[in-house]
Amino acid sequence: MKKLNFSILLLMFVLTVEAATVEGMRVWTGPEHTRAVFDLSGSAEYKLFELDNPPRVVIDLENAQLTSSLAIKNNKDIKKVRFSNKKKDVRIVLDLHDKLKSKSFLLKPAGEYGHRLVVDLSHESKPQVKTVEQVTQANRDVVVAIDAGHGGEDPGAIGPSGTYEKDVVLSIAKELAKKINAQKGMKALIIRTGDYYLKHRKRFEKARQQGADLFVSIHADAFHSPKVNGASVYILSQRGASSEAAKWLAASENKSDQIGGVVIEDKQDVLSKVLYDLSQNAALEESHKAAKSVHSAMRSVVKLHGQGFGQANFLVLKSPDVPSMLIETGYISNPGDEKKLKDPKHISKLTQQITDGIRNYFFQSPPPNTWIAAQAKAKKHVVQSGDTLSGIASKHGVSLSDIKSINNKASNQLLVGEVLYLPNQP
Ligand SMILES: [Zn+2]
Repeated sequence: MKKLNFSILLLMFVLTVEAATVEGMRVWTGPEHTRAVFDLSGSAEYKLFELDNPPRVVIDLENAQLTSSLAIKNNKDIKKVRFSNKKKDVRIVLDLHDKLKSKSFLLKPAGEYGHRLVVDLSHESKPQVKTVEQVTQANRDVVVAIDAGHGGEDPGAIGPSGTYEKDVVLSIAKELAKKINAQKGMKALIIRTGDYYLKHRKRFEKARQQGADLFVSIHADAFHSPKVNGASVYILSQRGASSEAAKWLAASENKSDQIGGVVIEDKQDVLSKVLYDLSQNAALEESHKAAKSVHSAMRSVVKLHGQGFGQANFLVLKSPDVPSMLIETGYISNPGDEKKLKDPKHISKLTQQITDGIRNYFFQSPPPNTWIAAQAKAKKHVVQSGDTLSGIASKHGVSLSDIKSINNKASNQLLVGEVLYLPNQP
């Protein structure tokens, strides 16, 4: 009799330990999908199915309970969340505005998070069609893909006064896009447009699909010492990092996929490695030129961290054929940098320098069939003492405003020795 009591006690103990609580829900919405994330106090098993009329997704979590209610407001995909606790299980129902495709998976603890159940709801994806215009058009714009790091579940680094890296880098990316679009012959493509997570591979794939000529990932990470400040430009290294700091940064950056909520499923990563290595060498050479150009443009207005240039194994820079760089716009862990990264004046100056650096790179190394390639082949004029902009324009029979726009000049001031590109005559 005594023995029986003991085993009942033991069974109850096991059940109590294993029952998970649903502690909360977060919802992130991007242009193509909505992600609902449930925080669980421990691991759990679940079943998920879709129902029509009205469209909804039902999640049965086994041996789990929900203790506080879940709410959602103003979401374009999820209308309402309902739940009911059964004896040992909990059923959660997501009422949808329209029928959506669902994909779900469990995540083990990562970063600040414990166990999570992720439900991705996506609209039927339309096949990606590369615009014919972009492939064949001569004199096309160069396309600069701008990737704001982190997002959604992944806040990135957090500053001493509570600033999230994912938020500041998104506003810097948007400002940079504005500056790039203001340049003749250049067009920006923003990779992450809102507060949601995109896995590293998806970021550069999106850039490739849309014919990007350059990929720029924007960050503002933390360091273990709050004293460290300044900006840096990084490119990919497949052989090892240029410094301990670069290595540490890449390792912390590469964890984003686990925190942001990505299931490791890319077996092709291993298979295609050799192919990638071959074409990546050419891209890496261009990455180096582009990053050096941005680095020297930034140097004039921003305090750089040490040399301000480094190499490490960043996953997001692994595009096989698009030159790529990662810009640390500052250290969010430094109170001074944190403040600057929220200052519109500083951001405007910084993004203008980055734009100039990118533009200079394209003029040095223009992709074929672009407007910039046509200008780079055009005549040049080296400014002599006594030259005026209007004098040069009339001498070469071109308009003053064309010279200014090609050479990115706001004023008519000239420097002796300055090289001016002259517009091509039709
Ligand atoms: Zn970052």
